[in-house]
Amino acid sequence: MKLIKLSSLTFICLTFMLPQAKLYGQTHQKIEFPNVPGYQTLVTDLHQHTVFSDGSVWPDIRVKEALFDGIDVISLTEHLEYQPHQEDLPHKDRNRSYELAKEYAKNHELIVIHGAEITRNLPPGHSNALFIQDANKLIHDDYMDAFREAKNQGAFIFWNHPNWVGQNKQGITKLSPIHEELIKEGLLHGVEVTNENTFADQALTIANEHELTILGTSDIHELIDWLFDIPGGGHRPVTLVFAKERSELGVKDALFEGRTVAWYQNSLIGQEKYLTPLIESSLVVDTAYYQMYGNTKTQIAEVVIFNHSDATYLLNNQSDFSFYHATDVVQLNPQTSTTLSVKTVQQLSAFELNFEVLNAIYAKKKHPKIKLKINMDTNLNKLQKNYRR
Ligand SMILES: [Zn+2]
Ligand SMILES: [Zn+2]
Repeated sequence: MKLIKLSSLTFICLTFMLPQAKLYGQTHQKIEFPNVPGYQTLVTDLHQHTVFSDGSVWPDIRVKEALFDGIDVISLTEHLEYQPHQEDLPHKDRNRSYELAKEYAKNHELIVIHGAEITRNLPPGHSNALFIQDANKLIHDDYMDAFREAKNQGAFIFWNHPNWVGQNKQGITKLSPIHEELIKEGLLHGVEVTNENTFADQALTIANEHELTILGTSDIHELIDWLFDIPGGGHRPVTLVFAKERSELGVKDALFEGRTVAWYQNSLIGQEKYLTPLIESSLVVDTAYYQMYGNTKTQIAEVVIFNHSDATYLLNNQSDFSFYHATDVVQLNPQTSTTLSVKTVQQLSAFELNFEVLNAIYAKKKHPKIKLKINMDTNLNKLQKNYRR
């Protein structure tokens, strides 16, 4: 009996202390985005489930998935009111999921936030309360009592999957008088513009109109790798949080201030003032030089841009210049460099490239615009005979 206990304990220690193994031989699974001026970029997934509500796994799996994906912050937001496993798992203390995850994560940098899902018919629908102290005290018949108790505990509260066909057959998000009342009373601070594998376009408009924080979450119930095809190069929806410090308080402050961008199926969704610095921090011009044809200098500028993020950027050229090899739509792949051959007509010492970023959105059909400043490097003239591709 003792031996069994010892070996299972050893197994637990080993699985949490060994350097992370790579899944399926992958070389790049961790989600990486650069910091932006003044803030650290933290990758968060603030809506997840385990067997403590209607999920299929124990909390240690959520911690391991987060470590594999390079997530900085998670919250296990079990349904307070929906407890389908209750016969097998009597769930008297609704804080257990958080407590277990916190324990499993204690030797890692992963931040685990105490959360719960207030689960009601629409309106108000489902809402997550984060940074709570005691989930048990949120169980009330009247949803307003649940929201008010969450606020008493200092919670950041957001509207989950406001487009969910389970509650809304059109899949169209509409702000009800009840939501307006919640916002007015300071009981609703954010909204999911993306949840699992759906995008709530009207929720972005509502977030902009009512200054709600923009979030994207996995709402995972089974396994991240299966649902989001991680082995095939997919990624879970996440919220990038721009925090003054890497701590629970830093995350809380950023969420209340609305400093977020959601990343979903390669699209970045957020306020323009946060999208622009994120994109500009992602795309760095490494070098630029005029190409040689034989011994003759051409007026084709070779601009080498490194993309320091996991997003594949799709840029629509809005400069007067056109490209030698590409059409006006160019793709910058993640964590690698791309060379753009720009026809500058005459030799310039510096110029600007202007792009619309098609895989980023800040309002209905609105894409942010960026400028890339190019300084030509005169020491890097490449001698290349019979230049062609
Ligand atoms: Zn829900
Ligand atoms: Zn949920």
